[in-house]
Amino acid sequence: MTAQIIDGKQIATQMREELKTEVAELKKENIVPGLGVILVGEDPASQSYVTAKERACENIGIYSDDNRLPADASQKDLMTLVDKMNNDPKINGILVQLPLPKHLDEGEVLLKINPDKDVDGFHPTNVGKMVAGQKAFLPCTPHGIIQLLLRSNVKLEGAEVVVVGRSNIVGKPIANMLIQKSPTGNATVTVCHTRTKNLADHTRRADIIIAAAGRPNTITADMVKDGVVVIDVGVNRVEDATKKKGYRLAGDVDFEAVKEKASFITPVPGGVGPMTITMLLYNTVESAKIAAGKI
Ligand code: NAP
Repeated sequence: MTAQIIDGKQIATQMREELKTEVAELKKENIVPGLGVILVGEDPASQSYVTAKERACENIGIYSDDNRLPADASQKDLMTLVDKMNNDPKINGILVQLPLPKHLDEGEVLLKINPDKDVDGFHPTNVGKMVAGQKAFLPCTPHGIIQLLLRSNVKLEGAEVVVVGRSNIVGKPIANMLIQKSPTGNATVTVCHTRTKNLADHTRRADIIIAAAGRPNTITADMVKDGVVVIDVGVNRVEDATKKKGYRLAGDVDFEAVKEKASFITPVPGGVGPMTITMLLYNTVESAKIAAGKI
């Protein structure tokens, strides 16, 4: 069996088109979704993520308010800016680009964001609601994974899912979403990590593997059963002298070998990555609709 590739770029483009139409409809009623973006410092990777997010907003008609603070900004400066956005009716979502410079307290900043504008879904209020199965802003990467699975018609109900990784931004939330008693959940989930005794014992019985370890070749062909669905979240730089930059991007899965056994697989890049920003846009539009009393 050669797997069907889950094309994250295509699914993300389709979702962004849907959002564009929705934003155009909202604008007819003078509702313009707005995203407030805060970047502290000049880390090149963070700068390019923020630029990509702002460009994506512009493409679908979301207003974005760009705020840059110097690398030596104080905690007070940052908290004041978050507060200003909390009180700005034009802003429906607040994005603080992480990681913050070391001298700043990330936890305190995330706690300061009004949960009603927490479009990253990292505020403990939204995390708690998600775990309790209540309506909440869902964190973007795991929410994007659910969309990839649903839009590829992968059956979640009753599926044995093995999640590799237990971070707060991927492993824990995706596991929680998939165990919810809902059409987007109803799976049986095992979460593995570096203290798991024999990873392959778990992955071999999985119908769906979600690899979020941040280590290339964590999942190899001998670790999966025929017909498995593989979602590769990992983004790793692997040395490659044939590339101009001296490296290429690879996921956590041995793609070439595993795709010969899997029924569905996401590539890296072009799988989960494009969905993360899309779900940020989705949450911002949802927030604008909630603020306008439409849902
Ligand atoms: P993280 O915070 O470093 O967490 C990695 C998790 O994987 C940890 O729980 C760790 O276990 C576990 N792990 C590491 N090696 C393992 C192994 N050999 N066997 C079993 N478990 C192992 O990483 P993250 O933030 O969740 O991100 C994971 C990957 O996804 C990274 O490559 C990241 O770049 C990528 N990512 C991509 C997107 C996207 O939009 N495409 C978004 C977010 C993250 P312990 O807890 O025991 O240490």
